[in-house]
Amino acid sequence: MATATAKSPTTTTAKPPQVKDQPLLIGGKWQDSVSGKTFATVNPANGETICQVAEGDKADVDLAVKAARKAFEGPWSKMNASERGRLLNKLADLVEENAQQLAALESLDNGKPYKDSLNIDVPMSVKCYRYYAGWADKIHGKTIPVEGPFFCYTRHEPVGVVGQIIPWNFPLLMQAWKLGPALATGCTVVLKPAEQTPLTALEVARLAQEAGIPDGVLNVIPGYGPTAGAAISGHMDVDKVAFTGEHTTGQIISEAAAKSNLKRVSLELGGKSPNVVFADADLDAAVEGAYFGLFFNQGQCCCAGSRLFVEEKIHDQFVEKILKKAKAQKVGDPFDPQTTQGPQVSQEQCDRIMGYIDAGKKDGAKLLTGGNRAGGKGYYIEPTVFDGVKDEMKIAKEEIFGPVMNILTFKDADEVVRRGNQTFYGLAAAVWTRDITKAHRIANGLRAGTVWINCYDVFDAAAPFGGYKMSGHGRELGEYALELYTEVKTVYVNLQ
Ligand code: ADP
Repeated sequence: MATATAKSPTTTTAKPPQVKDQPLLIGGKWQDSVSGKTFATVNPANGETICQVAEGDKADVDLAVKAARKAFEGPWSKMNASERGRLLNKLADLVEENAQQLAALESLDNGKPYKDSLNIDVPMSVKCYRYYAGWADKIHGKTIPVEGPFFCYTRHEPVGVVGQIIPWNFPLLMQAWKLGPALATGCTVVLKPAEQTPLTALEVARLAQEAGIPDGVLNVIPGYGPTAGAAISGHMDVDKVAFTGEHTTGQIISEAAAKSNLKRVSLELGGKSPNVVFADADLDAAVEGAYFGLFFNQGQCCCAGSRLFVEEKIHDQFVEKILKKAKAQKVGDPFDPQTTQGPQVSQEQCDRIMGYIDAGKKDGAKLLTGGNRAGGKGYYIEPTVFDGVKDEMKIAKEEIFGPVMNILTFKDADEVVRRGNQTFYGLAAAVWTRDITKAHRIANGLRAGTVWINCYDVFDAAAPFGGYKMSGHGRELGEYALELYTEVKTVYVNLQ
């Protein structure tokens, strides 16, 4: 994931940190779960337990929602908007000051290379908090010229207590994408990190306390989806739930939201994004973009360019170059500065990806490189490239979420738009060409929430991100995300 203004990488190295057992956070108090249960969070580089974490479920969620409601009606609603902005800026500063510690914890828990955590995840999180800090006192309604002797205006009020359920692929960043707009608009939060990666969410909550964000504004309940997650999405006193994860989980959450109190729902779900390379593209740039767009973050990106459409005429040249890059990938310990690909997050994900690799082989795709587990322990998979992939193959239809590239070929622009849209997802897409008219035509034709032209994985806190079709609804980031966390109130004043 690149930012529009990515800094040159910092080369600082780190060691895997020692971590104590972790409580959960309710109403400003660090405590055990009501049941007393804990779960192990595991280091994906070796499969060993890092520490035990308090396992929240319905009883803890109930307490957290009460605390969030109290803070919403109490200090948080009475605070000046500019003061909320100041606190969010303070949180951004603290995240930045603790960059190395947070990056090390992220890499330990998730497996991503430390240099990526430090140079991408942490700075992008900081920028996100700063961006929304700036919005806190700029959220306002309109005056509307209605008929009759009335003064009419709208207020954009915080939606209330929000539940936020986040995934394991970008724990720090997904927390920032969720917390930034929620806190800027004046909502209070019950956040559930993914069970695979709870550690940095708890650390950021400590920093939020240190920043002076009042007790109960941010509550963190680690735990499992069907227990803690379900308790949030089905809670009668949660006004909104924001979720990032699989589309099937999004469906469960939407149903629970509908059947409880019709809480507002925003969903950022999966993708099977087409990345289209025309023969007239800058080939080296397209190779670089296609490689990064798929292999970045061990392939664990919802917007991964996992259907790589290459124009037939340049197929052989393209494949030769991309193979060279894939083979140069250095798979290994996330804390080794040479590593470009760490382990997958869990045994479960590893098995699932290997299942897709088997399906690719069985369906007749041509395996050019990789296809095996790597390393003696930990959840490593070789960078894998399939060529000759056909639209109807399982690996071309389903989200793999791993380091598995699928190359398909096409002949003309209309064909590739039609085939690119042949998916129930619509999260992202990219096109590589020097022909500006063609680039815009393709961008218009592809039904996806983000289209990159001659680039991939460019993100900015100011620009919205989200999906068409089953990739979800609502837009995170930018001004658009404020809509997810506000209700519009219309006020009429009789002037007679
Ligand atoms: P993955 O299968 O890749 O882990 P999920 O969509 O299952 O992706 O997980 C994303 C987040 O959703 C995690 O925090 C997980 O605990 C949560 N989750 C999973 N199942 C449910 C559920 N039934 N209700 C609410 N949250 C859930």
